[in-house]
Amino acid sequence: MDSQTALDLFRKTGALLDGHFVLTSGLHSPNYFQCARVLQYPWYAEQLCTVIADHFQSAKIDVVASPAVGGIVVGQEVARLLGCRAVFAERVDGRMVLRRGFEFDKGDKVLCVEDVVTTGGSIGEIIDLARTIAEVAGVACIVDRSGGKAEFPLPFFAVLRMNIETYNPADCPLCKRGIPAYKPGSRNLQK
Ligand SMILES: [Zn+2]
Repeated sequence: MDSQTALDLFRKTGALLDGHFVLTSGLHSPNYFQCARVLQYPWYAEQLCTVIADHFQSAKIDVVASPAVGGIVVGQEVARLLGCRAVFAERVDGRMVLRRGFEFDKGDKVLCVEDVVTTGGSIGEIIDLARTIAEVAGVACIVDRSGGKAEFPLPFFAVLRMNIETYNPADCPLCKRGIPAYKPGSRNLQK
């Protein structure tokens, strides 16, 4: 799947919206992206995760590790395609930890998987966690929207790299054109 096909899939499922949005950060943007909206269709999740699984097929991965909550679906599907285990880490008291009886075994080859990489912080913590006992073979995500800021000392693969423009409300060209801004997740239109 090429980048354009992935983008078409995001638009078709409403994972990528075009318009004028107020993001959680308070910044304005001509786009809104919510990866879960494409992943809610298991057949599209399979198509996107196949690109990741194919990329790491020869790496002989033993376990896919992902951060809860967003990474779980992608981690599970990539592991299914690779025929290996999937575990997820959760944030407890500010730290990513394995719970629920999940563990890395000595010598495991681990693939760290996320739905969307923004800063790479959570994945970085999972890499550190896995490396205490296992070997980390790489990092993969559906969308890298870090604009190149997320870097790992490992092979890093993204199905799509996407830069979403943001503006301070005072400088927003869409506001200047009088286009109403929509806050996703709320029913209120912001003036
Ligand atoms: Zn605006």
